[in-house]
Amino acid sequence: MGHTILKNATIIDCTGADPKPNGWVVIQDQRIKEVGHGRTGALPAQATVIDCQGQTLLPGLIDGHVHTGSVDPSIVEQQHRLRTSTLVIRSLKVLKETLDQGFTTARDCGGVDAGFRQAVDEGWVPGSRLSVSGAILSQTGGHGDWRLPSETYAPIYHPAGVSSTVVDGVDAVRRAAREQLRQGVDFVKIMASGGAASPSDELDTSQYSLEEMKTAVFEAESAGKYVAAHCYSDRGIKLCCQAGVRTIEHGNLMTEASAKLMKECGTYLVPTMATYVMISKLGKELGLSDDFVRKINQALDKAETSLAYALAHGVKVGSGSDLLGPMQTSKGIEMELQGRVMGPMAALIATTRTNAEIIQREKDLGTIEAGKLADFVLVKGDPLKDLGLFKNYHDNLTLIIQGGKVHKNILSQGR
Ligand SMILES: [Zn+2]
Repeated sequence: MGHTILKNATIIDCTGADPKPNGWVVIQDQRIKEVGHGRTGALPAQATVIDCQGQTLLPGLIDGHVHTGSVDPSIVEQQHRLRTSTLVIRSLKVLKETLDQGFTTARDCGGVDAGFRQAVDEGWVPGSRLSVSGAILSQTGGHGDWRLPSETYAPIYHPAGVSSTVVDGVDAVRRAAREQLRQGVDFVKIMASGGAASPSDELDTSQYSLEEMKTAVFEAESAGKYVAAHCYSDRGIKLCCQAGVRTIEHGNLMTEASAKLMKECGTYLVPTMATYVMISKLGKELGLSDDFVRKINQALDKAETSLAYALAHGVKVGSGSDLLGPMQTSKGIEMELQGRVMGPMAALIATTRTNAEIIQREKDLGTIEAGKLADFVLVKGDPLKDLGLFKNYHDNLTLIIQGGKVHKNILSQGR
């Protein structure tokens, strides 16, 4: 591919440094060769030069919690109604739209398998570079058990969509974790509390015993991977910390005591505020049940408090959108929502540097530094003044580069 030079950009490199005007970046093949501001040194001849017109250059964004396989607003409905092939084909659209929103990388917290990751890496489909958990491990009646309370047949394994596997007891959890790891997942996801989308549980319950969680963690760590847990309840968060779970997804019913415990254990929090706001607003219109919307409002109510507890106690905070079905095109609002609690720069860093750490790709991703993969998003406007600009990604994201390859460039179309 040779060299590409991005010049005349205000660079927010997301290392924590202040923005630097008049910045430039030299890209060689897939990686960043050099970054600077002011005058450039001798530049490689025959390079492609892109004038960033003073706009703000950020590292490629990372969504720390997506469900590429969620194509309908209701997970329970889609898993009942849609064929495997339909789920896969429709997931590809979600995957591309995630990249269109500036997320050059995404962590799929349940649903798609390693084949999706491979398809992006090999260039078969446009989309965010993926870190995947494959099928989520859930206990009977847990957040990944999609049966209605009225249904008494054994749980069915769904290979696509929001895929989950219902397994109880240490041996079954061990086998299921090993099976997902065998299939090439990047981490193992467990359901450690009730959730909004599941028909048989409440947010403030805890799911899986300490022994079952420890087993999942042991197996994941044996393979050099980690466990992420869907968890709202305080009791669940405490059990996860004791078991060695690495990331708590959601975490809304956290108390200060469990925030302290997370800090002690080095557990990350991945807040997912976007999905509460969107479902609370659109859930009824999209046909979601009253019960679903009731539980989402309960989560929304505590979303800012739990994030504030985590920040006050020094917990490392990432960022995820967790949006479902047609709401998936609003991924950018997560930064704005988190920014209200943590400030704009911290929200940007959560979405880039910290999320890169969470997916264990900090050597390659998350900041604009020499040696890293050339993932960038160029933004019209100042995100430190208005994090809301990511919502209108069609107009406000003028350049998206992933691994040195230009996915979008509308810089020439007016200023
Ligand atoms: Zn989720």
